[in-house]
Amino acid sequence: MLPTDPHGFKRRGVLFVLSSPSGAGKSTIARALLAGDPDLQMSVSATTRPPRPGEVDGKDYHFVDLERFRDMVSAGEFLEWAHVFDNRYGTPRAQVEAILASGRDVLFDIDWQGAQQLFQIAGGDVVRVFVFPPSMEELHARLKRRGTDTTEVIDARMARAANEVSHWDGYDYVLVNDDVEQCIAKVRTILAAERLRRSRQTGLIGFVRKLRHGA
Ligand code: ADP
Ligand code: 5GP
Repeated sequence: MLPTDPHGFKRRGVLFVLSSPSGAGKSTIARALLAGDPDLQMSVSATTRPPRPGEVDGKDYHFVDLERFRDMVSAGEFLEWAHVFDNRYGTPRAQVEAILASGRDVLFDIDWQGAQQLFQIAGGDVVRVFVFPPSMEELHARLKRRGTDTTEVIDARMARAANEVSHWDGYDYVLVNDDVEQCIAKVRTILAAERLRRSRQTGLIGFVRKLRHGA
């Protein structure tokens, strides 16, 4: 529950999911959201994929080997997990629970399989946003410009992108990341509105009772 406001309302935390084909701009959007919002914290996934240049263990991902990942699956440590490309990715459960318990919302950069599993578990607390690239040509250009992947990896990501975009109907919101600032502004608007949803507010009954009795 997030902190009580002056009227005695509390709010259930939001599990805010951003998905897109790799290279469409999720990380860029996520960074911008987190920068100005102390009430939002990133869920750091575990992955068996090797770190890219510049990626920091524990910050971008928890980089683990296959054996450790399998142990975590067996121990029920993941809220959800999936095969993506030739690697495995999963959301550590304890971290998400700790963020929610501290009164903050959680931001997830996970694929459609993760969004689907999270929705099965947490239903109405989950808000799912899918980000499209303006075109496949531009997606390819962004992956090349990012300069973090080999040509083979870029080709594999492009091959997967066509499948990824076909899962748009499993999302609550879809956006095109054309102008990045405009896209970030739209994602902020979605989060702000979702935080205000009546279904997330608790303590309303007591407040309305007082109103009805003229207090
Ligand atoms: P993802 O997290 O979805 O894989 P990134 O956020 O890493 O994607 O973005 C891929 C590349 O595209 C990065 O180099 C990023 O700076 C760039 N980028 C992101 N959004 C835009 C945009 N709207 N226009 C142009 N380049 C962008
Ligand atoms: P990347 O290798 O580019 O960091 O991520 C590849 C894909 O895996 C992206 O679509 C990203 O959203 C997804 N991903 C990252 N972490 C998780 C996770 O914990 N669970 C699931 N299901 N997907 C993830």
